[in-house]
Amino acid sequence: MARRLNAPYFGKRYIGSSETKILHDLDHESDKCRIDSIERKHIQMFEWLSIPRDLNYSGCPYCMPDYKKQIESLRS
Ligand SMILES: [Zn+2]
Repeated sequence: MARRLNAPYFGKRYIGSSETKILHDLDHESDKCRIDSIERKHIQMFEWLSIPRDLNYSGCPYCMPDYKKQIESLRS
């Protein structure tokens, strides 16, 4: 699995569901992420972590186990 270039993904790295507020890293996607089960109307794509951080997203335990560390290391 990897990044998807087509709409609504557009090749961006991070995908979140506005319903569950879970963020996934498509460069480390696992089958357990079930990306394709995210309803299109809930899909939010991000290239950087600063925006999902500000939207209070949580990191997926399968593909983003270090999400908390990653957002803590971001400059605010
Ligand atoms: Zn995931």
